[in-house]
Amino acid sequence: MSDVLSPGEVKLRDGRSVDFANLDIAATAPCLRVVADAVADLLPYYGSVHRGAGALSQRCTREYELARESVADALGHGPGETVIFTRNTTDAFNLLARALPADTTVVTFDAEHHANLLPWRDTARLAAPRTPDEAVAALEEHLRSTRGRSVLVSVTAASNVTGEVFPVGRLAEVAHRHGARIAVDAAQLAPHAPGALAGLGADYVAFSGHKLYAPFGAGVLAGRSDWLEAAEPYLAGGGASAHVADDGAVRWASGPARHEAGTPNLLGAVALATALRALREREHGDREQALVRRLRAGLAALPHAEELRLFPADAERVGIVSFALLDRDPGAFADELGRDHGIGVRTGLFCAHPLTRRLLAEAAARKGAAAAPAQAIRASIGIGTTLEHIDRLLAALR
Ligand code: PLP
Repeated sequence: MSDVLSPGEVKLRDGRSVDFANLDIAATAPCLRVVADAVADLLPYYGSVHRGAGALSQRCTREYELARESVADALGHGPGETVIFTRNTTDAFNLLARALPADTTVVTFDAEHHANLLPWRDTARLAAPRTPDEAVAALEEHLRSTRGRSVLVSVTAASNVTGEVFPVGRLAEVAHRHGARIAVDAAQLAPHAPGALAGLGADYVAFSGHKLYAPFGAGVLAGRSDWLEAAEPYLAGGGASAHVADDGAVRWASGPARHEAGTPNLLGAVALATALRALREREHGDREQALVRRLRAGLAALPHAEELRLFPADAERVGIVSFALLDRDPGAFADELGRDHGIGVRTGLFCAHPLTRRLLAEAAARKGAAAAPAQAIRASIGIGTTLEHIDRLLAALR
């Protein structure tokens, strides 16, 4: 039995039924069975978190705080660090953006998901690096010019477009040497290498439960509490307020509650924490890498497809392979993959529009194509992906 829940067989246009090949795991991963079980176990004890005195409320409050502790433990937190449950990674970056001290500027690379570009107001965007070394050198050079200013470096740990892993540990070292802080978008790295999160050297980490083989609706912003404690609450309301005077004056709560107004997503938090624990206990990286290598080798043999990449071809990557398809409309092809082959992939510009357009143009040029396609195709691999799924995609491409 698979470790993840799946829809099983799907019916194709010609009437056959096949095992659905979910190659869109980087968008939203299927739910782990242990996670579904943990959620089901909690359902009979549904009660309000931090708001009631009865047994149900006590249990739910305990479970919620245990989930927080479990995430903090996975991140190797020490004193002065906190875990705030958010809705997802996008929400986490929006929260951090609101909590920045007024004079802080943000530095990102032009390789980020929109979640780590659009929330920032005052941003320096460094050109997307062509090698991990170039990323480190570009940051070093930029930070030399910001001496004395409050700076947050905000970078992805793994690109959602190419799957390439960024040298976060080295970037953190550069940032800290220059007195800057670093936030890491771990949305794609967390499911692939959950054990690595604690060693990133990041001041803030953001990720989403639904990419971590847990259900939708919960994410995390974790890291240093001082800026978060000094900021206005992300949402105003119950839970975030410690005292409201008769004249309406509010004393806001401290700790994670300050940014978690409203009834929290208990099941989401428990699911996310359970998934993180389960993923840390299992090793799926080697199998995932073998499937990635097979897909990349198959693509390399096709005259009408070209992989998208920023870094040299041997760069480390998570289970993501995006490519330009040069002889067909990618949207129509992806539709066919679904109807005729039972394969789900992602098409488009992947919430990283300028970067993906540029990589498509470069991929088309490498193949000598007259024009670049308007969309890329992304196949992503994770728990539940089989060799047969990869071979089915390659056969369809051929
Ligand atoms: N960052 C990266 C690298 C992603 O891949 C994604 C989602 O695709 C996000 C951020 C945003 O995640 P969410 O939609 O869960 O907020």
